[in-house]
Amino acid sequence: MKILLVFAHPEPRSLNGALRDIAVAELQNQGHEVRVSDLYADRWKSEVDRADFPSLPPDARFKPAAASGEAFAADALTGDVRAEQGKLLWADVLILQFPLWWYGMPAILKGWVDRVYAYGFAYGVGEHSDRHWGDRFGEGTLAGKRAMLLVTTGGWETHYSARGINGPIDDLLFPINHGILYYPGYDVLPPFVAYRVDRLDQAAFEPIAKRLRERMRTLATTSPIPYRRQNGGDYLIPNLQLRPGLEDFGASGFALHLNRAGTAG
Ligand code: FAD
Repeated sequence: MKILLVFAHPEPRSLNGALRDIAVAELQNQGHEVRVSDLYADRWKSEVDRADFPSLPPDARFKPAAASGEAFAADALTGDVRAEQGKLLWADVLILQFPLWWYGMPAILKGWVDRVYAYGFAYGVGEHSDRHWGDRFGEGTLAGKRAMLLVTTGGWETHYSARGINGPIDDLLFPINHGILYYPGYDVLPPFVAYRVDRLDQAAFEPIAKRLRERMRTLATTSPIPYRRQNGGDYLIPNLQLRPGLEDFGASGFALHLNRAGTAG
């Protein structure tokens, strides 16, 4: 397979750097082709602004989504964005790797999403009408590919458990897994999370490395998170609410959008 790892840590000698090297080496050992986008090393520009759209007339009001759609259609996005889109189209599997910073991804990675996920590429795809609300959430440009998160946290696993003070990790990562990866079509694999890493020593590092190698060996076979497809019949259109009675027993909140029974959608 072809694998793209997008790496968002400023220090190559960090724990994240060591985990990246382990993941890449394991994937290459398995015969996969791997490319890495190292956002800090590449000095990735994270903010969306007018400079992204050189063909926008100087006196025109800047509307980010419209400018994005027009530039994508005209093949006029900037070279750095087009290069990343090309990598996404090339890769069978996308891995986003980052330390959890303020319960989310570092700004540089969010800026990668904001700029690379252009209108017409990652959103605004397919028919948009009262009968079909776009090709998204299970359909879209990146359908048929797999994606997963590789995350490190300072907090303990219990802090991110169902009753943990930080909130469940699956809830915190839902906006990324569902809103950023599932949205343009990826099958989203359960995240790899290394908890309580700030005072890690060699003895604690080894089991994490072992678990990561195992996840890299099973990328093709791991079952995706069973999100419901928007256009699979589970949602009323156009209000996009889950049809009554479909929820797993006792499910609420983000978990409503999981179909663990696999009966529809
Ligand atoms: P490093 O600091 O590089 O390393 C961590 C430990 O691993 C060190 O003890 C290091 O010696 C050891 N180590 C590194 N490489 C190896 C190796 N090869 N072998 C053995 N040991 C090694 N945490 C949360 O839980 N929630 C948050 O919301 C949150 N927000 C944050 C916001 C900011 C701005 C920052 C800076 C931190 C935040 N943190 C949060 C903590 C953060 O998630 C962790 O600091 C981060 O995940 C650690 O990853 P790192 O790669 O930077 O580790």
